[in-house]
Amino acid sequence: MKKIETVAEMQRECAALRAAGRTIALVVTGGSIHEGHLALIRAAREKAEVVVVSLFPNPLQFGASEGFAHYPRTTEADVARCEEAGVDLVFLPAQEEMYPRTFSTFVTEETISKRLCGISRPTHFRGVTTVMVKLINIVRPDVLVMGQKDAQQVAVMRKVIADLNMGVEVVKVPIVRDADGLACHVRNATLTPSGRKEAQAISQSLVRAQEMAASGVRSTDRIIAEVTHILAQQRRVRVIYVAIVDRTTMETVREVVPGEALLMIAAWLDEVRLTDNALL
Ligand code: AMP
Repeated sequence: MKKIETVAEMQRECAALRAAGRTIALVVTGGSIHEGHLALIRAAREKAEVVVVSLFPNPLQFGASEGFAHYPRTTEADVARCEEAGVDLVFLPAQEEMYPRTFSTFVTEETISKRLCGISRPTHFRGVTTVMVKLINIVRPDVLVMGQKDAQQVAVMRKVIADLNMGVEVVKVPIVRDADGLACHVRNATLTPSGRKEAQAISQSLVRAQEMAASGVRSTDRIIAEVTHILAQQRRVRVIYVAIVDRTTMETVREVVPGEALLMIAAWLDEVRLTDNALL
């Protein structure tokens, strides 16, 4: 596995691989590699001959009060886990390498990214789309592997790739969960044991919603009421939104169309912002 820190070297390596006819899959992460990321890496290995993983906490996708300075950084362990997982190239650019002082170009998607998390985090998706487009331009992968955990991010990136004719296939990997149902996430480590127990209500409410949809309930109002009721039992869970949306546009829907309707939840648990979702 090669460790690469500069844009120029990554571009050279990837150009040489493409010239040799090798297919490339890109996995974009903020580091702190966990089981969710490893599932993306496995999917990437199935989809292409060469796997590139970026380990870059992206300051642009954090709002002013969102604690970027405290985002965990575990670079050595991340590199070791990537190597073990069969990654070919890891990209560890410094912040100034990605965003030199003169940097002044941003990518914004203006419809899907305004909904759901876009309401409470108004600059988040601009940060995501800008870094993603930069990384895609640097690596020029055949395939971009993303997690269903960030379903809105996937929908936004699919739209950007289509709108800008970028010609990259997006592969979406199902949510990886811990044994107690909580979706794996970097921030889970900061939950207290009692907070973690309360957070389980989120995945439990998703399962209940799936059961309702499977038993024929089509009214999204009824399902949202039940989910809200389950979450309200936990005093420390503060709901940011519960919504049932079309999985492509992230627009709210009134009726569940099985396989198309996505239940999206964002909630605070103490100081930890949690998101989760399930297809109904
Ligand atoms: P992050 O490092 O949190 O920015 O996530 C990097 C990529 O890993 C994104 O495509 C996420 O959707 C994906 N990811 C993070 N957690 C999970 C999970 N629990 N299951 C599946 N994919 C995940």
